[in-house]
Amino acid sequence: MFGGNNDKQDSKWKQKYYDSLEQFEKQEKQYAAIETALSRGIARLSHGADGINPILDGYLNDLRKSISGHKGINQTLKVLDEVCQTIDRIGKISHDSKKTAPVYTARDAINQIITEISFPGVYAKEAKKILASAKSVNDTELKSLSKMLGAVINNALQKKPSKEISKSNTGLFQRITGKPDLKLSAPRSEEINLDLSEILIQLLERLNFPHDMEKTVDKLKASFSTGIYPDQLGSALGEVATLVSDMRHRMQEERYELEKFLKQLTDNLKYLDDYLQRSEQERNGALQGSKDLDKRVQAHVRDIETSVIDADSLEALKGTVQTQLDQIRRHMVIYLQSEEERNKRMTEHMQELTTRLDEMESETTTLRESVIREREQAMLDPLTGINNRLAYNERMTQEYARWRRYENNLSMAVVDLDFFKRINDNYGHKAGDKVLQTVARMMNNSLRETDFLARYGGEEFVILFTETDIKTAMGVMDKLREKVANTGFHFKDERVPVTISCGVGEFRGDDTPEQVFTRADTALYRAKEAGRNRCMYEMA
Ligand code: GH3
Ligand code: MG
Ligand code: MG
Repeated sequence: MFGGNNDKQDSKWKQKYYDSLEQFEKQEKQYAAIETALSRGIARLSHGADGINPILDGYLNDLRKSISGHKGINQTLKVLDEVCQTIDRIGKISHDSKKTAPVYTARDAINQIITEISFPGVYAKEAKKILASAKSVNDTELKSLSKMLGAVINNALQKKPSKEISKSNTGLFQRITGKPDLKLSAPRSEEINLDLSEILIQLLERLNFPHDMEKTVDKLKASFSTGIYPDQLGSALGEVATLVSDMRHRMQEERYELEKFLKQLTDNLKYLDDYLQRSEQERNGALQGSKDLDKRVQAHVRDIETSVIDADSLEALKGTVQTQLDQIRRHMVIYLQSEEERNKRMTEHMQELTTRLDEMESETTTLRESVIREREQAMLDPLTGINNRLAYNERMTQEYARWRRYENNLSMAVVDLDFFKRINDNYGHKAGDKVLQTVARMMNNSLRETDFLARYGGEEFVILFTETDIKTAMGVMDKLREKVANTGFHFKDERVPVTISCGVGEFRGDDTPEQVFTRADTALYRAKEAGRNRCMYEMA
């Protein structure tokens, strides 16, 4: 019984063993099916993630290779892990810098920036060359190309003459790309090392963004002010490109609005023309109507005359005259009716025309006001609220023409904040902005109504003194310099010394504005050399 029991138990275990073997085999088949499906799925998904980031692209490629090469699940999992980590890193970068824009590759960004910004003159050529090379270089070379683009932007911003860009043939492009035949005038080596974040900030400062975009621009500037890490370069350039593109769209919208208005204006003028033609027709119709009536009345009167002559009896005459008079009355009624209709039509047309003219007038007024507003905006520096360089150019042209004609005294001063970079570096860009605003306000308040102050760019200002000789201008500038130096600027209870240096020049002989500016600038340079916080002048 015991043995029999043992046998029974044996066969029970055996059964159990077979059962679990079968189940194991089944599971293994299932796992294999899942693994194939997963591999296929991952391979497909990986294609969808291609092109987001060059590093990620590399890992995705490895992942696909590992799947198609049947390198085993462990190897695939390892590569998959790396893909996940890279995705996390990309996510973190965009999250850290609160990026909402899509993650750009540096190549996309270079592409977009160059296409969106219309670089002036010679810079356009430089940018085009960079654009062409960006298509065929690798990631490391792309970084150098980004820096070269930065240098071109910087030169364009500072309006450095093109010979400065091209004179030093350092062969840098050749070093980067190994393509000696491409004649890209390479920026000087110190420009290559220029802090790209600074250049991007300056670019954002120079572009006249519409008011409602300023907050976004400020945020971006703030995020750049702490510097840009190499792996953030693509997305940083991308953000700038997006902003520039938004601005362009806005300008296109404005142009579209203007076109719409002009079309409406043309339609309304056409309507006016139609109306005049119609009223001419109506007038002709009215004239014809009254002529017809006249003819008919005359005919009836003639009939009456004949009946009077031919009448046999008074009774018959009365009957005939009555009939003729009825006819005349009927014609009169018809005529009056058609006149009334005509008048009604004319009044309606007239009303519609008045409405259209009113509409046109109010739209023209709105448009005129917005053009004036936009023009004023375009002439103002958004940070300091004073005139910008465009306004300076316009005013300079006027004052120059006046000076040529009347030969009255005309002087010019160029002002530059001393060691301003330090203020930015030590207290941040926002504090720097505040100092610029305060200094601009102080200058604006100290100058006479007839003087003209503009922000020339960055931390540089220019002042035109009409009816003022160089000595008087020097006096005014020196007082202003002293005032700035004595003003207590504070940052979190810490005193921040702020001083300015100035160079003054005067219009003489055959001077052009550029010549006088250069003289004032030379004097400014000497003031800096001599220790800053001073004013100097340069005679012709
Ligand atoms: P120097 O006395 O020789 O003029 O020295 P500096 O540091 O003032 O001259 P530099 O030209 O080296 O630096 C000018 C700095 O001004 C660099 C730039 O970041 C800063 N800057 C230009 N525009 C703005 C702006 O709108 N806001 C702020 N915060 N800084 C600006
Ligand atoms: Mg300067
Ligand atoms: Mg300075």
